[in-house]
Amino acid sequence: MTEAAALPGQPRGGVLSGPATARAVNVLAPNASAMTLDGTNTWIVAEPDSELAVVIDPGPLDDAHLTQVITTAEKAGRRIALTLLTHGHPDHAAGAGRFAELTGTKVRALDPALRLGDEGLAAGDVVRTGGLELRVVPTPGHTADSLCFHLPADHAVLTGDTILGRGTTVVAHPDGRLGDYLDSLRRLRSLTVDDGVHTVLPGHGPVLQDAQGAVEFYLAHRANRLAQVETAVESGYATSGEVVAHVYADVDRSLWPAAELSVLAQLDYLREHGLI
Ligand SMILES: [Zn+2]
Repeated sequence: MTEAAALPGQPRGGVLSGPATARAVNVLAPNASAMTLDGTNTWIVAEPDSELAVVIDPGPLDDAHLTQVITTAEKAGRRIALTLLTHGHPDHAAGAGRFAELTGTKVRALDPALRLGDEGLAAGDVVRTGGLELRVVPTPGHTADSLCFHLPADHAVLTGDTILGRGTTVVAHPDGRLGDYLDSLRRLRSLTVDDGVHTVLPGHGPVLQDAQGAVEFYLAHRANRLAQVETAVESGYATSGEVVAHVYADVDRSLWPAAELSVLAQLDYLREHGLI
C-alpha cells in the first residue's frame, strides 16, 4: 500500500517476477493498482537443495494466482510446507485461508486473527523449514502487525509493506503509528549495517540491491514530509484534507486518501512530541 509512486532520488531496483536471490522467487499477483504498484509480490523461499518451501504473503483471494504459486514451487521440485504473513492487509493476506486449504499448510502471523494453526510469530522467532532460516523482525508502523523476515543466508530481508521497491509506504493511521515506523526503519538500518543485509525483497515493486540506501532514503523522506506537515500546520492549513492537498500536491490524486492516513499519523506524532 503506497502513498507515492517512484520518487526522484530514490534507489532503483530491477527484478520483479522470478528468482531474486539464491533462495527467493517472486510470483507477482495480478492485482496492480495505484495503491499496490505492479501487484503483490508472493515470495517462495527455500534452501537450494530442499524439497520444502515457505510462502510469504499468498496475496489476494485469486485462485489462478494461488495455483500459479503452487505450480511454480512444484516445477522447482518443492512442496510448500508453511505460509507466513508480513501483515493483515487484504492484498497480502486475503488469499491465505484458501492457499492454506490448497497446500494443507498452517498460516503463521503476528495477529492471532490471521493464523491458521496454533503457532504465531513474535520478536526473536526463527522459522526453520527444510534447512531454511528466517528470522522474524517486528516492524510496526505501516500497520501494528507488520513483520519483516531476515533471510541471512542471502543477505536479504523480506519487507512486506514496510519498505517498497518503489515509492513510499503508508503509515496507516490509526493502526499504523509514525513513531513505531521510524523505530522500525532504524531497526532495518541496523540489519544492513550490523548484519550485512544488502537486498530488499519488498511486498510490492522491484527488488532493491542497496538495502541501506533504501532505508536511508525512507528515513530522509519521512523527515522531509514531517517537516512539510509541521510547516503547513503553522501556516494555517487546519484539517488533514487541507494538509494533504498542500503537502502531497506532487502526488497523484488517486493516492490522496492513502496520503491522508499518513498525514493523520504525522499530525499525531507532532502533537505527541509537542511540535504543534
Ligand atoms: Zn499493507
